[in-house]
Amino acid sequence: MAKTRTGQIKQSSKLLNVRYDVRGPILEEAQRMEAAGHRIMKLNIGNPAPFGFEAPDAILKDMVSHLPHAQGYSDSRGIYSARTAVSQYYQSRGIMGIDVEDVFIGNGVSELISMVLQALVDDGDEVLIPAPDYPLWTGATTLSGGSAVHYRCVEEEGWSPDLEDIESKVTDRTKAIVIINPNNPTGAVYSRQVLNGIVDIARRHNLVLMSDEIYEKILYDGARHINVAGLSDDVVTLTFSGLSKAYRVAGFRSGWVAISGPKHRAADFLEGLTLLANMRMCANVPAQHAIQTALGGYQSVNDLILPGGRLLEQRNLAQKLLSEIPGVSVQPAQGALYLFPRLDPEVYRIEDDEKFVIELLRAQKILVSHGRAFNWPDTDHFRLVTLPNVRDLEEGISRIADFLEDYRER
Ligand code: PLP
Repeated sequence: MAKTRTGQIKQSSKLLNVRYDVRGPILEEAQRMEAAGHRIMKLNIGNPAPFGFEAPDAILKDMVSHLPHAQGYSDSRGIYSARTAVSQYYQSRGIMGIDVEDVFIGNGVSELISMVLQALVDDGDEVLIPAPDYPLWTGATTLSGGSAVHYRCVEEEGWSPDLEDIESKVTDRTKAIVIINPNNPTGAVYSRQVLNGIVDIARRHNLVLMSDEIYEKILYDGARHINVAGLSDDVVTLTFSGLSKAYRVAGFRSGWVAISGPKHRAADFLEGLTLLANMRMCANVPAQHAIQTALGGYQSVNDLILPGGRLLEQRNLAQKLLSEIPGVSVQPAQGALYLFPRLDPEVYRIEDDEKFVIELLRAQKILVSHGRAFNWPDTDHFRLVTLPNVRDLEEGISRIADFLEDYRER
C-alpha cells in the first residue's frame, strides 16, 4: 500500500484495473438492505449448500475421520492420495499424460487460477479469455500485469466460441487461451469440433491452453463433456476442477489443476508455479482428504441432473418462465448452474446494466448479476443462478417479470 502526504493509505496501483463486479456495489447494496431488515432473494452466486444441496455423506465422514491427521502442513502440491486420485480420474477418462507430479491441489480453483497466471504472465502479455467470462479470469490476468483480450462467444450458436475471432486476436504477446467448459455464465458445453479448433489455434501459435472445467459433472439433456486435455498430446494444457460445485462443498476450498501435454517445454513455468505453491505452504489439508472419496465413489450429482432431479427441474422451470416474459430470450443451458438471459434492447432501453440490477434489487428485493460483470460488452444481459427450489424460482422470476413490466412502460 502506498502512503500519501495526507496520511491516507491508498490501495496498490496494481489493483487499478482489477474488477470483480459480481461481488461489487450490488452486493454491498443488498447487505445494506438486509441490515435494514429486508429479506433479499439471492440469485447471484453459485453456492450450492445454502440452497439445500448438501455434500455427500461420504465426503463429510472422510474429512472428519482425517481431522486428527490433518493438523500439519502437507506437501505444497498437495497430499499424495489426492493427487493420485486426480491423476487416476483423468486416466479413467482416457487422458494418460497426467502423473501425480503434474497435479497441484489448491484452496479452490480460484487460488490456482491466480497462481498460474502469476507464474506465466509478464507485464504486457496477453491472455485470450471468453466474453462473457467468469470474471476471476480477467481480474487475475490484469493483476498479474497482463492484458485480458476477450474473444466472442456467439449467443445464437448456443454461446459457442467464435474460432475466427480467437484466431484474429492472437498477437506476438499472446501467452494462453482460456476456455470455461461447461460455461459460467452461459451454460454452454463445447462440441468436439469447437474444442479441436481451439486446440489447433493453441498448437499453431504455441499457446498454453487453460480449461476451467469445474462444472464438468453438471450436464443436462444428455450433453457430453469432453476434457480438452484428451484431444492432444502436443499442446501444454492446464485443466482446472474441484469440489465446490458437483460435490457441494464450496466452503471447504478444494480444487486442483492438472498439467498435460509436452511438459518438458513448460519446465521453467512449472518451476515458477512450484515456487508460488511453496510460498503459500499448502492448501487446506482436511479438505484435501475429501478429494479421493469424491472422485472415487458414486457420483451423487447424477441424481440431481437426471430426469426428476432437482437441478434439472429447476433449470427447466427457470428457462421456461424467463422465456415467457416479453422481450426476454434465453439460450438453454446445457450445463452448470446459471442462465444468461437477453433483454431485447428494442424493448428495454438499458443504459447502465449495473444500475438496472440495483433498481431491480430495490424494487423487488431480488439480487442478480449484470452482464457486464462477466465482461460482456453490452448492457443487454443478466445472470441468475438456478439453485433455488422451484417455489422460490417461481416467486423470484415473477418478481423479475413485474419489474420488467414497469420498466417497459417507462
Ligand atoms: N471457475 C468457475 C467457472 C466458477 O464459476 C467458479 C465459482 O463460481 C470458480 C472457478 C471458483 O471455484 P472454487 O470454489 O473452486 O474456487
